[in-house]
Amino acid sequence: MSPTPTGEAAPPTAEGLPAALPDDSAAVLELAGKAAAEYVAALTDEPAAPRRQHEDDWQDALARFTGPLPDQGMGAAAAVRELAEHALPQAVRSSGPRYFHFVTGGTTPAALGADWLAATIDQNAAAWVCSPLATQLETVALGWLKELFGLPAPWGAVTTTGGTMANFTGLAAARRWWARRHGVDVDVQGLAGLPVMPVFGSGFAHASIAKSLGMLGLGRSALRRFPADGTGRLDLDALRTALRELDGAPAVLVATAGEPDAGRFDPVAELADLAAEFDVWLHVDGAFGLFAALDGRTAHLVEGVERAHSVAADGHKWLNVPFDTGFSFVRDPALLGSVFTNQAAYLVDVDDPHINYANLGPDNSRRARSLAVWATLAAYGRDGYRQLVSRHLAVATGFAEQVRQDPDLELLAPVVLNAVCFRVRPRGVPEGELDALNRRLAEQLLLDGRVHLGATTFDGRAALRPVFANWRTSPQDAGLILEVLRELLDRETAA
Ligand SMILES: *Cc1c(COP(=O)(O)O)cnc(C)c1O
Repeated sequence: MSPTPTGEAAPPTAEGLPAALPDDSAAVLELAGKAAAEYVAALTDEPAAPRRQHEDDWQDALARFTGPLPDQGMGAAAAVRELAEHALPQAVRSSGPRYFHFVTGGTTPAALGADWLAATIDQNAAAWVCSPLATQLETVALGWLKELFGLPAPWGAVTTTGGTMANFTGLAAARRWWARRHGVDVDVQGLAGLPVMPVFGSGFAHASIAKSLGMLGLGRSALRRFPADGTGRLDLDALRTALRELDGAPAVLVATAGEPDAGRFDPVAELADLAAEFDVWLHVDGAFGLFAALDGRTAHLVEGVERAHSVAADGHKWLNVPFDTGFSFVRDPALLGSVFTNQAAYLVDVDDPHINYANLGPDNSRRARSLAVWATLAAYGRDGYRQLVSRHLAVATGFAEQVRQDPDLELLAPVVLNAVCFRVRPRGVPEGELDALNRRLAEQLLLDGRVHLGATTFDGRAALRPVFANWRTSPQDAGLILEVLRELLDRETAA
């Protein structure tokens, strides 16, 4: 800056600065909007994924998206058009009606529209001072979710990126509670000097429980499972014995409300009884299973969840909001603040009377995920979600009935919720060959692309496990799974 004759700095001008980015936002948004509308309109009829001959074909299909960082950019409209024309066709239609993998839901029209707006206003939902709007919508949306799931209103709650981080958040609160029982402020002092935190669960406990324990420094091996049999079902007597053997030492119980293989539940109410009898923190992982509360036929599965100390749920599963959204609910709201409060001179004061969500969960800067959650609940209400759940229960039972009636198929577990675990068992194929056959068919299903679903091992046997959680899914979409399987099987036997 050159000094003026009086010695004062001249006011800065834009002259001589590098060019600002061109503002073609309106054109870019119009282009993106048109591409998105076309994509969504085609979801109902299009295959769940592009058809491939071999897994390696994905590399060729995506070869366009390689290469070094360009020196000269192509411009915003061209970049977005490139994605619209060449990337979107390569997307797995995970928001479409024939995607049955990983308990993933789609995104409701209300949630999708709202999520666009969230990207548009680009709020930081970290603190009230960054966005009173996002903070307010998050508070309202979390309150509505508590009502939906039958959780008490005074509980603390925070939006996370998914079920894993919701489990992490609940278990972080549990860790604080447990360490305090040992006279230690673990969030200040750390774990040194503390014993291993006992964490007990069934064979259903999701992989993200062990992962969270690892991230929390408690160690993945802190989780002890008490399976009654090869299916992972809880051995309640063995669990009770283990609790007694703790001799009064505090422990954490993990109840799984809906596991992703066959939608099965730990006995939540009985675990809540145990938590009351022993010095136990009860964490419920209800990533998708909490929605069982919405239907009279399944509500008993989540009875007792309101007696837990922390509860995890997912948004991008049965709620049908876009990735990545989850929710952590904690009975004692003060614990979240004690674990997660950030302290720095430039951040919000710890005594700030407003809710500052960065101080209640693992993230600092946060996307305003609440807009999609608020909008979908405002749009469809409790009744809309009741109907959604009831529809998926009907689709799952109808599909399971088709499996039962087909002599070449075997249902491996009773249907409790929205997952159906089965395998192909053609007449004349020896038991010893069934695992390999089912795994081959599972791979071929993914290459075929018309439907998208996953394989698992259930009670030692290779199995297929479609889950019905997308609002668009119809019984015909589910039925297509069996049509495609039949075709693949015929091709297999002809070969
Ligand atoms: C999906 C799932 C998770 C993990 O959720 P993400 O959103 O994938 O992190 C945890 N627990 C259960 C029971 C799940 O089904």
